[in-house]
Amino acid sequence: EESIYLTKYGSHVHMLVRRGQMRASKAMQDRVLSNPKITVHWNTEAVDVLGVPGSKMDGLRIRNIETDAESDLLVKGLFYAIGHTPNTQLFQGQLELDELSYIATKHGSVETSVDGVYAVGDVQDHEFRQAITAAGSGCMGAMLAERWLSSNGLTQEFHQTKESQQAAAPPAPKVRKTSENFDINDTRHEGGFALRKLFHESDRLIVVKYSAPSCGPCHSLKPILSKVIDEFEGKIHYVEIDIEEDPEIAENAGVIGTPTIQYFKDKALVTELKGVKPKSQYRELIASNL
Ligand SMILES: Cc1cc2nc3c(=O)[nH]c(=O)nc-3n(C[C@H](O)[C@H](O)[C@H](O)COP(=O)(O)OP(=O)(O)OC[C@H]3O[C@@H](n4cnc5c(N)ncnc54)[C@H](O)[C@@H]3O)c2cc1C
Repeated sequence: EESIYLTKYGSHVHMLVRRGQMRASKAMQDRVLSNPKITVHWNTEAVDVLGVPGSKMDGLRIRNIETDAESDLLVKGLFYAIGHTPNTQLFQGQLELDELSYIATKHGSVETSVDGVYAVGDVQDHEFRQAITAAGSGCMGAMLAERWLSSNGLTQEFHQTKESQQAAAPPAPKVRKTSENFDINDTRHEGGFALRKLFHESDRLIVVKYSAPSCGPCHSLKPILSKVIDEFEGKIHYVEIDIEEDPEIAENAGVIGTPTIQYFKDKALVTELKGVKPKSQYRELIASNL
């Protein structure tokens, strides 16, 4: 709103203010004025950007509006404050705008001059203009729009069908490997029982993934690792441990974060990878320890 130009050189910022004062809040002004890395140039505007066209800028020519004196600032960057003119030309003649070009809304509401049209956020708010007020008014607009559509018979209703309810049903509980369904010839296993059995009875390389249901990176890792495991079908064992279901296994293995991958061979830990690594790293470690 004050057409401030911020220019930065090294770690120093020059701030050009076209008038003799700022419109920003006192608190924000204090922060700027007390910062030794910011020099404020009052009554000053930018006249030209210096440098070879098409290349990087070398500086900025500035002019003092009161004295007309021009000088150059050796700065390497230029940032414009864009001002507060609402981008509402689109609605000119269609919706009522106020004298500052904000979309006019009824007091305390987001209703505009046209029935069923709601204006929300900064475009109708010249007082607060904050993310949370914009989001709040957005919610008001959405609710009013839904009500308007309903009361005008314009909503299309979707009802649950048998299929959609089935799709939304919670996933079946995980099958835990127990003595009944454990097969030492399987490549893929789940849970502490399988890990203990394999650790003591198999001579294949065992790749153990420790994960947790709420761990985002674990979900990213799953398909990556799964493809690598497929390449070694029948040659290795892969055991998934949910550290929430098998906390004592994770504790005994010294696992403190997820995802963690451990490689075991001949009852000994070969190596450990924490976090998500490139697919090739998992593959190479398996290949070199078969
Ligand atoms: C430098 C700066 C710092 C800020 N700091 C804070 C802060 O610390 N805390 C805070 O709460 N708020 C802050 N704000 C304010 C906050 O960003 C806004 O209040 C908020 O983004 C307003 O949301 P909005 O959805 O109403 O508008 P906007 O976020 O401006 O979204 C409007 C969208 O409409 C698009 N658009 C415009 N015209 C058209 C068209 N014709 N067709 C299609 N799309 C179009 C635009 O591209 C834009 O994506 C700051 C704002 C600025 C500029």
